[in-house]
Amino acid sequence: MTTARFRLVVTGVLAVLLVAAPLWGQVRQEIRIPEILGYKTLKCDFHMHTVFSDGQVWPTVRVDEAWREGLDVISITDHIEYQPHKDDVPTNHNRPYEIALPRAKARGILLVRGAEITRETPPGHFNAIFLDDVTPLDTKDLLDCMAAAAKQGAFIFWNHPGWKPDKKGWFDTHTTLYEKKYMRGIEMVNGKSYYPDAHKWAIEKDLVFIGNSDIHGPSMIQRTTKNEHRTMTLVFAKRKSLAAVKEAVFAGRTVAWYQNQLIGPAEYLEAIFEAAVSLTDIQYGPENTIRFRLTNSSDLDLELARTGKVGPRTLALPAGASALVSIKVDDLEAPVELEYTVENFLSGLGRGVPVSLSFAGQMTIELDAEI
Ligand SMILES: [Zn+2]
Ligand SMILES: [Zn+2]
Repeated sequence: MTTARFRLVVTGVLAVLLVAAPLWGQVRQEIRIPEILGYKTLKCDFHMHTVFSDGQVWPTVRVDEAWREGLDVISITDHIEYQPHKDDVPTNHNRPYEIALPRAKARGILLVRGAEITRETPPGHFNAIFLDDVTPLDTKDLLDCMAAAAKQGAFIFWNHPGWKPDKKGWFDTHTTLYEKKYMRGIEMVNGKSYYPDAHKWAIEKDLVFIGNSDIHGPSMIQRTTKNEHRTMTLVFAKRKSLAAVKEAVFAGRTVAWYQNQLIGPAEYLEAIFEAAVSLTDIQYGPENTIRFRLTNSSDLDLELARTGKVGPRTLALPAGASALVSIKVDDLEAPVELEYTVENFLSGLGRGVPVSLSFAGQMTIELDAEI
C-alpha cells in the first residue's frame, strides 16, 4: 500500500470512528421488572441536581443519563435555598426544568417539575414534586413554603432522614408537616444509604416509600445491571403519563429499588415475584420425586428461604436465569405448595416477603371398564 493510500484508509477509519462515537452513548438499557396488578411499572428517580444548585452537570445531561439507564420518569430537584454556582449560573428555580423539557420529550422521558426545600437539620430537606412553578416556594418560613407547594398539588417527601447521624430523628416540625398532610412520603433510601428509621416511620405512619439517587456529579453508570443501577422508585401507574404517575405516587403504589433489595408494601413485592417467576416442565418421577423448572424473567436476583415443609432450604434464582428443582413428596397426586420468603424483598424491617408456588398433583386417568 502506498503511503498516500494508507493515509486515506486511516483517515477513512478515523472518520467512521468519529461519526460512530457519539452513537455509542445513545443506547438505552431497558430494565426488566414486570408489570403488576394491571399497572405499568415505571422506573423513576425523583431527586437529582444540576449546576442550578450544587450539581455538576447541565439539565439536559440528566435526561440523557436517565434515558441510557432505562428510567421512565425523572424530576430535577435543585435546592431552592442553596446555589453555590450562582455567580456563574443565575438563580432561576424553573430553568432546570425548562431547559431539560425538550430533551425529555425527544427521549420519551416524563419530566416532573420539582425542587428541594433545603433547611437546617432538623427538620432537614424535602422534595416537592409535580409543581407548576417553583418560585412561590422561595420563602423564609418553612410552613409558608410547604403551603405554597401544597396549593399547587405537589407531592412532598422528606429527603435522606438519617443524613446527619448526630441530628437525626423525628422532631415536632415533622409532626406538624405530617399532620397538615404536607409530608406524604419519605426517602428510606437515598443513593447508597438506607435509613431503617425512615423505613419504620413509613410503615407506622403510612408514608409513601421513596428511593432516589440524589445524584450531583455525572452518572458513572454506563450499563444498568442488577449489580450496578441507580437507586430508584418503581411506580405502579395506570399508564405512562404525568397525571398517572402523580395519582400512583399519592396512592402509595411504589417500591424502592436499592442495591439487590426491593423495599415496599408486601402486596407489590409479592405481585412482582409472581409475575417474574414461572414454574414449568413438571415431571413426576419414581419414588415420589417431582422435578420442575423455575425461571426468573426479571432483572432482579431472588433469594429464597424455605418457610414451609417442601422444597430445598434455600433457592437462588438469579436475574434472567432458570433453576431445576427436585423435591420429594408423600403423595404424587396431591397438590404441591412450596412456601418461601424472598429475603431480598423487604416488606418490613429485616423482614422478607412471604410467597408460595403451587401446582396440581399428578393426574391419573381412570378407565371405565364398561366403555
Ligand atoms: Zn438534600
Ligand atoms: Zn438533594
